[in-house]
Amino acid sequence: MSSALELLEKAYGRIRLPKEESLLERFIYFVLVDGTSPAKATKAIEDLHETFVDWNEVRVTKPYEVRESLSAIADGREQGKAEVIVSALQKIYTDKSKLSFDFLEKLEPAARRKYLSALKGVPPWIRAILLLLVEKEKSDQPDALRVARRIPIVDKRLTPAKAREKLAALFPDDELHNVMAVLVQHGTQICHSRPKCVECFLKATCKEGIANTTSAERSEPPVDSLLATTAKNRPVMSVPWERPKEFVLPKVSPPPAAKRRDGRPSPPPLPKGPRGRPGRFYD
Ligand code: SF4
Repeated sequence: MSSALELLEKAYGRIRLPKEESLLERFIYFVLVDGTSPAKATKAIEDLHETFVDWNEVRVTKPYEVRESLSAIADGREQGKAEVIVSALQKIYTDKSKLSFDFLEKLEPAARRKYLSALKGVPPWIRAILLLLVEKEKSDQPDALRVARRIPIVDKRLTPAKAREKLAALFPDDELHNVMAVLVQHGTQICHSRPKCVECFLKATCKEGIANTTSAERSEPPVDSLLATTAKNRPVMSVPWERPKEFVLPKVSPPPAAKRRDGRPSPPPLPKGPRGRPGRFYD
Protein backbone atom coordinates (compact mmCIF):
# COMPACT_ATOMS: atom_id res chain seq x y z
CA MET A 1 0.00 0.00 0.00
CA SER A 2 1.32 3.44 -0.85
CA SER A 3 2.43 5.62 2.03
CA ALA A 4 -0.16 8.21 0.97
CA LEU A 5 -2.92 5.63 1.50
CA GLU A 6 -1.49 4.71 4.88
CA LEU A 7 -1.59 8.36 5.92
CA LEU A 8 -5.15 8.67 4.62
CA GLU A 9 -6.16 5.68 6.75
CA LYS A 10 -4.44 7.15 9.76
CA ALA A 11 -6.42 10.34 9.31
CA TYR A 12 -9.84 8.94 8.44
CA GLY A 13 -9.76 5.44 9.88
CA ARG A 14 -10.78 2.14 8.32
CA ILE A 15 -14.28 1.08 7.41
CA ARG A 16 -15.26 -2.43 8.38
CA LEU A 17 -17.87 -3.56 5.91
CA PRO A 18 -20.52 -5.76 7.51
CA LYS A 19 -20.74 -8.64 5.03
CA GLU A 20 -24.03 -10.37 5.53
CA GLU A 21 -26.40 -7.54 6.21
CA SER A 22 -28.78 -5.80 3.83
CA LEU A 23 -27.85 -2.47 2.29
CA LEU A 24 -30.17 -0.72 4.73
CA GLU A 25 -28.46 -2.33 7.71
CA ARG A 26 -25.06 -1.43 6.28
CA PHE A 27 -26.24 2.15 5.85
CA ILE A 28 -27.26 2.30 9.52
CA TYR A 29 -23.92 0.82 10.51
CA PHE A 30 -22.08 3.47 8.45
CA VAL A 31 -24.03 6.27 10.13
CA LEU A 32 -23.09 4.82 13.52
CA VAL A 33 -19.42 4.22 12.68
CA ASP A 34 -18.85 7.72 11.29
CA GLY A 35 -16.08 9.17 13.42
CA THR A 36 -15.98 6.31 15.92
CA SER A 37 -14.60 2.78 16.12
CA PRO A 38 -16.16 -0.25 14.37
CA ALA A 39 -16.37 -2.00 17.77
CA LYS A 40 -18.50 0.80 19.23
CA ALA A 41 -20.71 0.97 16.14
CA THR A 42 -21.20 -2.80 16.17
CA LYS A 43 -22.20 -2.69 19.85
CA ALA A 44 -24.63 0.16 19.13
CA ILE A 45 -26.29 -1.73 16.28
CA GLU A 46 -26.59 -4.82 18.51
CA ASP A 47 -28.21 -2.65 21.20
CA LEU A 48 -30.68 -1.32 18.61
CA HIS A 49 -31.58 -4.90 17.67
CA GLU A 50 -32.11 -5.75 21.32
CA THR A 51 -34.26 -2.71 22.10
CA PHE A 52 -36.42 -2.60 18.99
CA VAL A 53 -38.38 -5.33 17.24
CA ASP A 54 -37.31 -4.16 13.78
CA TRP A 55 -36.32 -1.04 11.82
CA ASN A 56 -39.96 -0.11 11.49
CA GLU A 57 -40.16 0.32 15.25
CA VAL A 58 -37.09 2.55 15.09
CA ARG A 59 -38.79 4.55 12.33
CA VAL A 60 -41.82 5.35 14.50
CA THR A 61 -39.76 6.12 17.60
CA LYS A 62 -38.62 9.58 18.64
CA PRO A 63 -34.92 10.19 17.94
CA TYR A 64 -34.24 11.01 21.60
CA GLU A 65 -35.54 7.55 22.55
CA VAL A 66 -33.45 5.89 19.84
CA ARG A 67 -30.47 7.85 21.16
CA GLU A 68 -30.70 5.99 24.46
CA SER A 69 -29.76 2.79 22.62
CA LEU A 70 -26.71 4.43 21.09
CA SER A 71 -24.80 5.01 24.32
CA ALA A 72 -22.08 2.58 23.17
CA ILE A 73 -20.93 5.11 20.59
CA ALA A 74 -20.07 7.64 23.29
CA ASP A 75 -18.86 10.26 20.79
CA GLY A 76 -21.29 13.01 21.74
CA ARG A 77 -23.16 12.60 18.44
CA GLU A 78 -25.71 10.01 19.53
CA GLN A 79 -28.64 12.43 19.09
CA GLY A 80 -27.50 13.53 15.61
CA LYS A 81 -27.00 9.94 14.49
CA ALA A 82 -30.39 8.89 15.88
CA GLU A 83 -31.99 11.76 13.95
CA VAL A 84 -30.22 10.77 10.71
CA ILE A 85 -31.33 7.14 11.06
CA VAL A 86 -34.96 7.91 11.97
CA SER A 87 -35.24 10.54 9.24
CA ALA A 88 -33.83 8.18 6.57
CA LEU A 89 -36.16 5.36 7.65
CA GLN A 90 -39.13 7.73 7.54
CA LYS A 91 -38.22 8.94 4.05
CA ILE A 92 -37.65 5.45 2.65
CA TYR A 93 -40.93 4.22 4.11
CA THR A 94 -42.89 7.25 2.90
CA ASP A 95 -41.48 6.90 -0.62
CA LYS A 96 -41.45 3.11 -1.04
CA SER A 97 -43.90 1.77 1.58
CA LYS A 98 -41.26 -0.64 2.84
CA LEU A 99 -37.95 -0.44 4.62
CA SER A 100 -35.36 -1.54 2.11
CA PHE A 101 -32.76 -0.01 -0.16
CA ASP A 102 -33.33 -2.70 -2.84
CA PHE A 103 -35.06 -0.16 -5.09
CA LEU A 104 -31.74 1.68 -5.54
CA GLU A 105 -30.54 -1.00 -7.95
CA LYS A 106 -33.46 -0.34 -10.28
CA LEU A 107 -32.93 3.43 -10.42
CA GLU A 108 -30.96 5.22 -13.12
CA PRO A 109 -27.54 6.37 -11.82
CA ALA A 110 -28.58 10.05 -11.72
CA ALA A 111 -31.83 9.26 -9.87
CA ARG A 112 -29.92 7.04 -7.45
CA ARG A 113 -27.50 9.85 -6.64
CA LYS A 114 -30.35 12.31 -6.25
CA TYR A 115 -32.18 9.99 -3.87
CA LEU A 116 -29.15 9.46 -1.66
CA SER A 117 -28.38 13.19 -1.66
CA ALA A 118 -31.89 13.83 -0.37
CA LEU A 119 -31.24 11.80 2.80
CA LYS A 120 -30.73 14.40 5.50
CA GLY A 121 -27.48 14.57 7.44
CA VAL A 122 -25.75 11.71 5.61
CA PRO A 123 -22.01 12.43 5.12
CA PRO A 124 -20.65 12.28 1.55
CA TRP A 125 -18.49 9.24 2.24
CA ILE A 126 -21.56 7.17 3.23
CA ARG A 127 -23.36 8.15 0.03
CA ALA A 128 -20.22 7.26 -1.93
CA ILE A 129 -19.91 3.83 -0.31
CA LEU A 130 -23.59 3.06 -0.85
CA LEU A 131 -23.18 3.95 -4.53
CA LEU A 132 -20.12 1.77 -4.68
CA LEU A 133 -22.00 -1.15 -3.14
CA VAL A 134 -24.86 -0.79 -5.61
CA GLU A 135 -22.90 0.10 -8.74
CA LYS A 136 -19.74 -1.92 -7.98
CA GLU A 137 -16.77 -0.89 -10.13
CA LYS A 138 -19.02 1.20 -12.40
CA SER A 139 -19.50 3.71 -9.61
CA ASP A 140 -18.68 7.26 -10.63
CA GLN A 141 -16.86 8.85 -7.70
CA PRO A 142 -15.38 12.15 -8.90
CA ASP A 143 -14.04 13.14 -5.45
CA ALA A 144 -12.27 9.82 -4.99
CA LEU A 145 -10.94 9.67 -8.54
CA ARG A 146 -9.55 13.21 -8.30
CA VAL A 147 -7.48 12.31 -5.22
CA ALA A 148 -6.46 8.94 -6.67
CA ARG A 149 -5.09 10.68 -9.75
CA ARG A 150 -3.27 13.37 -7.81
CA ILE A 151 -1.51 11.20 -5.23
CA PRO A 152 -1.26 9.26 -7.69
CA ILE A 153 -2.67 5.77 -7.25
CA VAL A 154 -3.91 5.69 -10.85
CA ASP A 155 -2.49 7.34 -13.94
CA LYS A 156 -3.68 10.90 -14.41
CA ARG A 157 -4.33 10.34 -18.11
CA LEU A 158 -6.84 7.51 -17.57
CA THR A 159 -10.50 8.22 -18.33
CA PRO A 160 -12.87 7.96 -15.32
CA ALA A 161 -14.05 4.54 -16.50
CA LYS A 162 -10.48 3.24 -16.90
CA ALA A 163 -9.43 4.79 -13.57
CA ARG A 164 -12.32 3.01 -11.83
CA GLU A 165 -11.36 -0.27 -13.46
CA LYS A 166 -7.78 0.23 -12.37
CA LEU A 167 -8.79 0.91 -8.75
CA ALA A 168 -11.07 -2.16 -8.76
CA ALA A 169 -8.17 -4.24 -10.10
CA LEU A 170 -5.69 -2.88 -7.54
CA PHE A 171 -7.71 -3.68 -4.42
CA PRO A 172 -9.85 -6.65 -3.36
CA ASP A 173 -13.53 -5.84 -2.79
CA ASP A 174 -13.38 -5.27 0.97
CA GLU A 175 -10.25 -3.18 0.68
CA LEU A 176 -11.69 -1.16 -2.21
CA HIS A 177 -14.53 0.10 -0.02
CA ASN A 178 -12.06 1.27 2.53
CA VAL A 179 -9.83 2.95 -0.04
CA MET A 180 -12.80 4.69 -1.64
CA ALA A 181 -14.03 5.85 1.75
CA VAL A 182 -10.77 7.57 2.63
CA LEU A 183 -10.39 9.02 -0.87
CA VAL A 184 -13.92 10.43 -0.82
CA GLN A 185 -13.41 11.94 2.62
CA HIS A 186 -10.18 13.56 1.55
CA GLY A 187 -11.65 14.75 -1.75
CA THR A 188 -14.61 16.39 -0.03
CA GLN A 189 -12.63 17.95 2.82
CA ILE A 190 -9.20 19.01 1.60
CA CYS A 191 -8.38 17.90 -1.92
CA HIS A 192 -11.11 19.86 -3.69
CA SER A 193 -10.90 20.84 -7.37
CA ARG A 194 -8.74 23.68 -6.04
CA PRO A 195 -6.67 21.68 -3.57
CA LYS A 196 -5.60 23.12 -0.21
CA CYS A 197 -2.14 21.56 -0.49
CA VAL A 198 -0.51 23.69 2.23
CA GLU A 199 -3.10 22.43 4.75
CA CYS A 200 -2.86 18.84 3.54
CA PHE A 201 -1.00 16.14 5.48
CA LEU A 202 -0.08 14.57 2.13
CA LYS A 203 1.79 17.62 0.86
CA ALA A 204 5.18 15.95 1.25
CA THR A 205 3.99 12.60 -0.17
CA CYS A 206 1.60 13.51 -2.96
CA LYS A 207 3.03 14.19 -6.41
CA GLU A 208 0.73 17.11 -7.10
CA GLY A 209 1.16 18.45 -3.56
CA ILE A 210 4.92 18.58 -4.02
CA ALA A 211 4.45 20.42 -7.30
CA ASN A 212 2.00 22.89 -5.72
CA THR A 213 4.06 23.83 -2.65
CA THR A 214 7.46 25.31 -1.88
CA SER A 215 9.85 23.44 0.41
CA ALA A 216 9.13 26.04 3.13
CA GLU A 217 5.37 25.40 2.81
CA ARG A 218 5.97 21.66 3.01
CA SER A 219 7.68 22.01 6.37
CA GLU A 220 5.23 24.49 7.90
CA PRO A 221 2.75 23.60 9.31
CA PRO A 222 4.37 20.21 9.95
CA VAL A 223 2.72 17.16 8.37
CA ASP A 224 2.32 15.38 11.73
CA SER A 225 0.29 18.19 13.25
CA LEU A 226 -1.92 18.42 10.10
CA LEU A 227 -2.47 14.69 10.27
CA ALA A 228 -3.37 14.88 13.96
CA THR A 229 -5.80 17.76 13.33
CA THR A 230 -7.55 15.90 10.49
CA ALA A 231 -7.81 12.74 12.58
CA LYS A 232 -9.19 14.74 15.51
CA ASN A 233 -11.81 16.46 13.37
CA ARG A 234 -12.72 13.25 11.60
CA PRO A 235 -16.35 13.18 12.76
CA VAL A 236 -17.95 14.97 9.87
CA MET A 237 -21.60 15.51 9.29
CA SER A 238 -21.07 17.97 6.52
CA VAL A 239 -24.63 18.10 5.25
CA PRO A 240 -26.65 20.51 7.39
CA TRP A 241 -29.22 18.68 9.41
CA GLU A 242 -32.85 19.72 9.18
CA ARG A 243 -35.20 18.38 11.77
CA PRO A 244 -37.96 16.30 10.18
CA LYS A 245 -41.43 17.69 10.56
CA GLU A 246 -43.11 15.69 13.24
CA PHE A 247 -46.65 15.97 14.51
CA VAL A 248 -48.09 18.14 11.79
CA LEU A 249 -51.64 18.27 13.06
CA PRO A 250 -54.30 17.82 10.38
CA LYS A 251 -56.68 20.73 9.92
CA VAL A 252 -59.98 19.96 11.58
CA SER A 253 -63.01 21.59 9.97
CA PRO A 254 -65.78 22.71 12.35
CA PRO A 255 -68.78 20.40 12.62
CA PRO A 256 -71.76 21.41 10.45
CA ALA A 257 -74.21 23.74 12.18
CA ALA A 258 -77.24 21.95 13.60
CA LYS A 259 -80.45 22.80 11.74
CA ARG A 260 -83.62 23.84 13.49
CA ARG A 261 -86.74 21.77 13.03
CA ASP A 262 -88.46 24.57 11.12
CA GLY A 263 -85.48 24.78 8.68
CA ARG A 264 -84.32 28.23 9.80
CA PRO A 265 -80.52 28.60 10.23
CA SER A 266 -79.14 28.15 13.75
CA PRO A 267 -78.33 31.30 15.70
CA PRO A 268 -74.63 32.31 15.91
CA PRO A 269 -72.71 30.64 18.77
CA LEU A 270 -72.67 32.37 22.13
CA PRO A 271 -69.71 34.70 22.65
CA LYS A 272 -66.98 33.33 24.86
CA GLY A 273 -66.90 34.42 28.49
CA PRO A 274 -64.03 34.15 30.98
CA ARG A 275 -61.89 30.98 30.69
CA GLY A 276 -63.27 30.37 27.24
CA ARG A 277 -66.70 29.27 28.44
CA PRO A 278 -69.74 30.45 26.51
CA GLY A 279 -71.66 33.04 28.52
CA ARG A 280 -73.59 35.97 27.22
CA PHE A 281 -73.76 37.56 30.70
CA TYR A 282 -70.05 38.22 30.88
CA ASP A 283 -69.62 40.31 27.71
S1 SF4 B 1 -1.27 17.55 -1.42
FE1 SF4 B 1 -2.75 18.72 -2.57
S2 SF4 B 1 -3.19 17.55 -4.39
FE2 SF4 B 1 -2.16 16.20 -2.97
S3 SF4 B 1 -3.82 15.18 -1.86
FE3 SF4 B 1 -3.25 16.97 -0.67
S4 SF4 B 1 -4.62 18.57 -1.33
FE4 SF4 B 1 -4.68 16.95 -2.89
